[in-house]
Amino acid sequence: MTFELKDSSLLKAQAFINGEWVNGDKGETFAVTNPATGEKLADVVSVGAVETTRAIDAADKALAGWQALAPKQRSEVLEEWHHLILANTEDLAIIMTAEQGKTLAESRGEIAYGASYLKWFAEEGKRVYGDIIPSPSDRRGVVIKQPIGVVAAITPWNFPNAMITRKAAPALAVGCAMVLKPAAETPLSALALAELAKRAGLPAGLLNVLPGLDAPAIGGEMTSNKTVKKVTFTGSTPVGKLLMKQCADTVKRTSMELGGNAPVIIFDDADLDLAVAGALAAKYRNSGQTCICANRLLVQEGIYDAFVEKFTAAVSHFRIGNGVDSETTHGPVITEKAANDIHAKVQQAVEEGAHVVIGGQPGTQGACFYQPTILTNVNDQMRVFREEIFGPVAPVFKFSSEEDAIRMANDTEFGLAAYVYTENMGRIWRVSESIDYGMVGVNETAISSEAIPFGGVKESGQGREGSKYGLDDYLETKYICIGGL
Ligand code: ADP
Repeated sequence: MTFELKDSSLLKAQAFINGEWVNGDKGETFAVTNPATGEKLADVVSVGAVETTRAIDAADKALAGWQALAPKQRSEVLEEWHHLILANTEDLAIIMTAEQGKTLAESRGEIAYGASYLKWFAEEGKRVYGDIIPSPSDRRGVVIKQPIGVVAAITPWNFPNAMITRKAAPALAVGCAMVLKPAAETPLSALALAELAKRAGLPAGLLNVLPGLDAPAIGGEMTSNKTVKKVTFTGSTPVGKLLMKQCADTVKRTSMELGGNAPVIIFDDADLDLAVAGALAAKYRNSGQTCICANRLLVQEGIYDAFVEKFTAAVSHFRIGNGVDSETTHGPVITEKAANDIHAKVQQAVEEGAHVVIGGQPGTQGACFYQPTILTNVNDQMRVFREEIFGPVAPVFKFSSEEDAIRMANDTEFGLAAYVYTENMGRIWRVSESIDYGMVGVNETAISSEAIPFGGVKESGQGREGSKYGLDDYLETKYICIGGL
């Protein structure tokens, strides 16, 4: 093992089914490695469809007891889970940095962010109100909201903690049970969360964690099993589309948080320093591996050169390295394949005329590193415009008018997050309302928190996570007509 924890019992390598740590039926395991060093961290149990069915059955059995509790009692369990996560922040951050690569500071930030969903939904889950509808005098129309039942969740590796709590907290708060498949790159963070849920007193069966290499087998069972009433997914658009198709056969509800292609639109009248700082954070957070990362910087011609100069100067101060080193500002990307894919996009742009202002090559620190990169002389036919880069590469495009900027921003099948920098109030409204995105940051790129509705439009997905709206994804609306009065 390459790291030391204060509480080594947080490092789990088995599946968590019906409140127990178990091996898979076939005795299979898979290696989890540190992307910064290539070292093996653990051999984790790999489960398949059979264990997934078992977990779904356990979740189903646990529902009745959980739903019989008062919302306040469920809330108390979530509060305790929140408390335990915060109390173990350092260990959880060490595990996350080891398996995911982000810096320790970023990992600590994610632990706090992830925990905030538990606190939020512990409170919000007590407020699942219904309605009474004006009706003819001999009857009453009543609307109640009920938990949807067993929920299957599939989560990605870029936020190994928060993408789980963002789903589990609202689901559990309203009385659902969950079976969860974490990404194979980062199961250790998920398993540590399950251990803390157990310690917090979450009854057996309500949260099951199914690590595994065979995602289609686990996902296939989750999407075809009739007991599962909903699938919530965060990940790539192709896999999201596949899961939606699979869910069609049993007409399951779905929430999909898929890929993005976020523009940062910087107008001539923007506060330049604010725009540079915002674009830096939005582009290079988690080494460019978040679904709301800036993908395309769209900069108006009058401010373009000044922006590129300041932006480049800031990037030149980045320190790439192992996330556990205190001087590291940016860690590796998740795998060697990811680094190769990023380089292929950069090379294609360069072959078609892009200028590399800084970076443009794999990092020398290890197989999973990529240099923070800035490209100019780019155009809308390049892959760096059309596709999600998911790495530390910033293509800076030039536009002339507001109409141009809106057209370029909307010229994508994605619609998750967009950012706008301008000091003009009229333009703030016009542009915010004209761009097809689920979330718009104006003069701000740190837009996410537990209190806001996170989610996209177009092929970036459906459903919202966090905020009062996030409860609806785990609730059914039932109409009761009381007649004969
Ligand atoms: P990324 O490219 O960022 O890894 P993916 O969409 O491939 O994004 O992965 C997100 C999650 O979806 C991971 O937990 C992964 O294991 C899972 N996944 C990938 N393919 C499938 C599939 N066919 N069925 C179910 N889950 C899948």
